[in-house]
Amino acid sequence: MIKFLDLHKINERQRPEIDAAVKRVLDSGWYLLGKENEQFSKDFARYCGVKHVIPVANGLDALRLIVKAYGFGPGDEIIVPANTYIATVLAVSDNGCTPVLVEPDIATYNINPDLIEAAITPRTKAIMVVHLYGQAVEMEKIRILAEKYNLKIIEDAAQAHGAVWQGRKTGNLGDAAGFSFYPGKNLGALGDAGAVTTNDDELAAKIEALRNYGSKVKYQNLYQGLNSRMDELQAAVLDVKLPLLDKDNNRRREIADYYLKNITNPKIILPQAKYREGHVFHVFVVRTEERERFQNYLSENGIQTVIHYPVPPHKQPAYKELNNLNLPITEKIHREIISLPISQVMTDEEIKQVIEVVNAWK
Ligand SMILES: *Cc1c(COP(=O)(O)O)cnc(C)c1O
Repeated sequence: MIKFLDLHKINERQRPEIDAAVKRVLDSGWYLLGKENEQFSKDFARYCGVKHVIPVANGLDALRLIVKAYGFGPGDEIIVPANTYIATVLAVSDNGCTPVLVEPDIATYNINPDLIEAAITPRTKAIMVVHLYGQAVEMEKIRILAEKYNLKIIEDAAQAHGAVWQGRKTGNLGDAAGFSFYPGKNLGALGDAGAVTTNDDELAAKIEALRNYGSKVKYQNLYQGLNSRMDELQAAVLDVKLPLLDKDNNRRREIADYYLKNITNPKIILPQAKYREGHVFHVFVVRTEERERFQNYLSENGIQTVIHYPVPPHKQPAYKELNNLNLPITEKIHREIISLPISQVMTDEEIKQVIEVVNAWK
């Protein structure tokens, strides 16, 4: 069987280094807010080209903390893509802000910049873009709007570590960004972890305190914060894995190229990578009107697939107040998409097999 994602195989490639990092932390007797966090912050900041990296407990917290640090709350609106993972919307509503959902561009699946201005009101405070499926959002029009209406740009970069737009990496395309290092992400920890990136000194200092009970000096609380620190263990493991990220992303692009060139089944709509460095193919999402039948067929032929995602945020029971929104493009996408296996450890043989099976579907 071809697995959708083989995390064991991914981490096994660096087993001795990971073992040594885990041992180092265990031996140190220091498990939170220490040298490993410091080192990973420095290295990930250099990688993204940003001034500050604040490690936190997970990607949702990274986004929640950015919204909180800006002081956005009840009565404030934040524009988010309708086509996203629920975490983007949760980060907004968890702070008491109102998420304003904007339809995607069907070509990229990312927020459609041409539809944003109509969604801006006097209460709008920020635009939260999501580099969905690994493809960097094209920022020109969004930047112009942010300037015109004095809005912050927050990036949800949870799926797009290393994706580039106009020579700059995600995490460095707005005012602040949230990353996730959930095990299945392009850069994944051995459990939950996340980070905020920003070039804003004041925001960085505030988030650093907010994620640690609102405290800079032990037992002195500047803000009503939360507990959202990254374990030293996870920081140590991430620092071992970071040097492979570009190579891994390139392998994903190579697999995507094979798929794009060789999948010729007319029933399958392939994704579009607008330019090579802009997409790190966190997932390879195709569309078909007969999604269920296609998924069953692939499964019967030994190919594991996942749907990212089967139900859009505005149709979730958790968001009753959004259930009646009319978002036909988002709904069409959610009805038709399916993600084929793609990862840095897939073999050429497996890739060929996926292509053959997909092309043989009638
Ligand atoms: C994974 C993900 C998140 C949340 O990250 P966690 O670490 O799981 O909290 C946020 N946004 C998007 C788009 C994601 O894919």
